[in-house]
Amino acid sequence: MAIPIIASGSDSDGSPVKEQPVVIDRYPDECPSCRRTMDLNRVDAKPFKRGNEWLEVYFRCANQKCLHFVLATYIVNLPLSHRSNAPCFTLVSIFPDSPQDRSFAPSIVETSPQFASIYNQAAAAEVYRLLDVAGPGFRKALEFLIKDYAISIHPNDADAIRKDQLMSVIKKHFTDTRMSIVFSRAAWLGNDETHYERRWIDHDLNHLKQLIDASVHFIEMEKLVAQLPEDMPDPEDLWSDGTGTLLEVVEFSRQNLVENLRI
Ligand SMILES: [Zn+2]
Repeated sequence: MAIPIIASGSDSDGSPVKEQPVVIDRYPDECPSCRRTMDLNRVDAKPFKRGNEWLEVYFRCANQKCLHFVLATYIVNLPLSHRSNAPCFTLVSIFPDSPQDRSFAPSIVETSPQFASIYNQAAAAEVYRLLDVAGPGFRKALEFLIKDYAISIHPNDADAIRKDQLMSVIKKHFTDTRMSIVFSRAAWLGNDETHYERRWIDHDLNHLKQLIDASVHFIEMEKLVAQLPEDMPDPEDLWSDGTGTLLEVVEFSRQNLVENLRI
């Protein structure tokens, strides 16, 4: 969506540029203060700088309970607009860009109560472009997640797991090939964020976050699978291991019969 606006400002040598039509690609999606969507009134657009072309557009939230200002920065996006020949600008950032906490599934919060808090602190640092702080923060979040998960499935080794190196914990306690591949790569990238010299120079913070996401999904899935036999016991087990009472077996058979009759 191209939105035509009028902008004014200065040239690269500081001389003023009279108002001229430009095109911006979009308004900010939401107000960063109240998080209301598409409820922004544009106030002004300036300065427009020709030499090093960028554009700042000021908005004011239309939500009467908010009314905060928002500063959106755009950079020029050549070629020029086909329709008007006016320069096109692409939204690159907004200010203030207040971080929003990410929520995680109950099974993750239950497994590692501190993981979400540390993760969201790291994410906030990233929003504020404190990338040298965000990286080690994500690494710390990963360590809590994996160690707490290891403790949850090996509670007798809790003390050893807490004191051990993260990679050592992964090698000792996770033999599932796919899971250990994800955990170990996440740990490698995480370590890169804390070491003086990067080993994985083609990988960045986004790759680390992707692997943390994959780790979270693996743990969620494992927790779900581990809970299934309790939530939905196999009726054959009721017969074979003798744990099912006669009433349970009869009730299961009755429900099964009803389901079959419906089909
Ligand atoms: Zn607002």
